[in-house]
Amino acid sequence: MNSTNYIGRFAPSPTGPLHYGSLVAATASYLQAKHNEGKWYVRIEDIDPPREVQGATDDILATLECYQFEWDQEPLYQSTRLENYRTACDALIEQQLVYACNCSRKDLADNIAKTELGKRYPGICADKQLPTTDANFNLRVRVQDQAISFQDLHYGLQTHNLQNEIGDIMIYRKFNLPSYSLAVVIDDAMQGITEVVRGVDLIAFTPIQIYLCELLQLPVTKFLHIPIIVNQQGQKLSKQTHAPAISKNSCVATLTKSLNDLGQEVPEDLAKNSLSQLWSWAIEHWDVHKIPQTEQIFYKQ
Ligand code: GLU
Repeated sequence: MNSTNYIGRFAPSPTGPLHYGSLVAATASYLQAKHNEGKWYVRIEDIDPPREVQGATDDILATLECYQFEWDQEPLYQSTRLENYRTACDALIEQQLVYACNCSRKDLADNIAKTELGKRYPGICADKQLPTTDANFNLRVRVQDQAISFQDLHYGLQTHNLQNEIGDIMIYRKFNLPSYSLAVVIDDAMQGITEVVRGVDLIAFTPIQIYLCELLQLPVTKFLHIPIIVNQQGQKLSKQTHAPAISKNSCVATLTKSLNDLGQEVPEDLAKNSLSQLWSWAIEHWDVHKIPQTEQIFYKQ
């Protein structure tokens, strides 16, 4: 690929302010795009109203601005794209690949087996013939007994069988809520994203997303997953684990820490320079091969 065709993205969900773990993911995706002389977009994944926090989007964008991230296009809001997700879902229904599912959380908790990719849905509703037009039901796409492989640019070759490991994939939750994976593949394709850089906690979604791309005849991006930042209890920094918002006042120090966590070995004297000098150095010297080979990095205060 001609490197200038590179388009990357950072796709936060507005469930709270930007915490250090998100900063590390934003830093990696930004540097991978800019080092490759590509473009970098911000996409706000605001299609899960119950999990969203008022004001979080503005706060995330203001924080990214403070850290001098520069995006090459106005942020895309998934909440403006609901019709596109619906159209894709209808196309899958048309192909008879979708069925409605009325399993409750309890049904699932009692019946779901844990697998390497997470949890496997055992197809409880596959033959119930519930109406796919009823918004009180979830919608699932049937998967095949086939291997899906991809070469992760950091963790190497990954191969999974969705039928054995995940079962039929939820593409809509009841009350018309499109699933994360459906929305992601449609928007990555529409925005021309060439490479997805994100935390390894999302690697389990990758075979699902590749499969949906195949069904919807969308291009498949490249993938680079990076380690996630965890607290002392080994939990991913997130709103649920009460990760603090990153400071807007110590950007050079916090970005330096993020670069070092990504293995980039910032020269000590650079930490005294301005944010734009730090970014110039980081863009020039960015090296994916230096990212630690682990899946988790402990958060140091
Ligand atoms: N919105 C997702 C999150 O905040 C990230 C999606 C992605 O990078 O594919 O966890």
